[in-house]
Amino acid sequence: MLLLRKTYLKREYQTYLKSAHWKKIQKIVYSQNPRCYVGNERYPLNIHHTNYENLYNESLQDLVVLCEFHHKALHSWAKMRGWKPDWRDCLKKHL
Ligand SMILES: [Zn+2]
Ligand SMILES: [Zn+2]
Repeated sequence: MLLLRKTYLKREYQTYLKSAHWKKIQKIVYSQNPRCYVGNERYPLNIHHTNYENLYNESLQDLVVLCEFHHKALHSWAKMRGWKPDWRDCLKKHL
């Protein structure tokens, strides 16, 4: 059941990332945070969702700009250790 829901969400999420709404959010986020949160890289940048609770209605608190390298690093790091409430500090300390 959990797995099913996960697969469903993943598909929803992929669609969402192509929506005009998300593109608008992206523009705002990148204009305010033009560099990677961890290493200040300028390119290539991704936006990471720190949680999916506010999906479709994100605030800037729910999002963080990361370069592709640190984004991947964050995901494999969190896979091993789980997401922690203080992940923002963890990011800078461990990645
Ligand atoms: Zn991510
Ligand atoms: Zn980076």
